[in-house]
Amino acid sequence: MTALPPLPQERRVVTAIPGPKSQELQARRLAAVAAGVGSVLPVFTARASGGIIEDVDGNRLIDFGSGIAVTSVGASAEAVVRRASAQLADFTHTCFMVTPYEGYVEVAEALAELTPGDHAKKSALFNSGAEAVENAVKIARAYTKRQAVVVFDHGYHGRTNLTMALTAKNMPYKHGFGPFAPEVYRVPVAYGYRWPTGPENAGPEAAAQAVDQISKQVGADNVAAIIIEPVLGEGGFIEPAKGFLPAIRKFAADNGIVFVADEIQSGFCRTGQWFACEDEGIVPDLITTAKGIAGGLPLAAVTGRAEIMDAAHAGGLGGTYGGNPVACAGALGSIETMKELDLNARAKHIEAVMKARLTAMAEKYAHNDRFSIGDIRGRGAMIAIELVKDRATKEPHPEATAALAKACHQEGLVVLTCGTYGNVLRFLPPLVIGDDLLNEGLDIIEQAFTSV
Ligand SMILES: *Cc1c(COP(=O)(O)O)cnc(C)c1O
Repeated sequence: MTALPPLPQERRVVTAIPGPKSQELQARRLAAVAAGVGSVLPVFTARASGGIIEDVDGNRLIDFGSGIAVTSVGASAEAVVRRASAQLADFTHTCFMVTPYEGYVEVAEALAELTPGDHAKKSALFNSGAEAVENAVKIARAYTKRQAVVVFDHGYHGRTNLTMALTAKNMPYKHGFGPFAPEVYRVPVAYGYRWPTGPENAGPEAAAQAVDQISKQVGADNVAAIIIEPVLGEGGFIEPAKGFLPAIRKFAADNGIVFVADEIQSGFCRTGQWFACEDEGIVPDLITTAKGIAGGLPLAAVTGRAEIMDAAHAGGLGGTYGGNPVACAGALGSIETMKELDLNARAKHIEAVMKARLTAMAEKYAHNDRFSIGDIRGRGAMIAIELVKDRATKEPHPEATAALAKACHQEGLVVLTCGTYGNVLRFLPPLVIGDDLLNEGLDIIEQAFTSV
């Protein structure tokens, strides 16, 4: 097999972005691809490696998106490509439910080792994050023989019918797609920046409100699972204020409710720990993973207490492609890279660099009449800024957020937006990104602040 050499880790802008070849492809795409499938920027990819995406016009973009927190080990990481290529040559598929293979078992063993808690654990593998969350609900219901599922304001769990019901935000995820699955209940989360009595009170107050609503409106005895992202992703990179997660975790334990940490975006070194729930010493009963797990190949998992995972009857879980052998090989390559390069340490370093620069920008650009950085938050290489019209009123500024993102794109920096109010710029660089590219990306963001 002749592998192309990795791309130089340098930004290069040689045409307008998008360039002429991308525009041609975009015209074909608009004619052939359903309008409901969007793209952040209509730049067509030719190759990608590390922290660089090369487009069909020869531009090289700095990647602060990692394909939505997927290529944490870098695009086309060596160990991912090596192991997945070898697996492709051996066999592409048998279906684990027909004749099993070792890679699936190895991934389950790695998940048992890496996820929090030293209890006996088992895993089941799937194709997408949404599918993992759906299966966590199936497993929790089978185990508890209860039906209700509790989720949180600003939560995101996917786009299938059940996970749309679990997701908070209407546009674009749910609008017009109902009716949604029943027995889903939403309660407050400790969003410190927007908590009425201030961030220092958000943890205990939001937890008390959530517990009260669950107890009084649903009945703790009816709840199969409480599902929460330890750092909320699409909802705006919200770190629940300290004390919130431990209080909810304790409430679940006291009431026989399965506590599910949805670490699909926050897991696998993204926040500087293997899993974000480790930050407050939370040991979930079940944990859902996907995105960063396999270096870009489609794989997802539910991992948890053996007695809970075994509650579903034989044949009750699975799927034709779940735990595809090539995706499992990719996951083993990805985990190998995370360990070898100590990507948790890299994520912490990225946090230090980004937060220092963003804090300086927040001060420098605070006193203009157009927009301000209201909040800088996140952990590791999962960092965001929330844009507001005015720091006192905290009125969200989605237009400035979109304009800033666009200005970055035109300079060859891929950034993403998120947040319930569409006013959060989020940064998810691959954890292997070099300091020069990281700082160049931050220079482009700073330049966007002056040009928008
Ligand atoms: C992306 C995401 C999902 C859904 O994953 P898909 O692979 O897109 O189905 C679920 N939960 C969280 C926290 C996510 O970030």
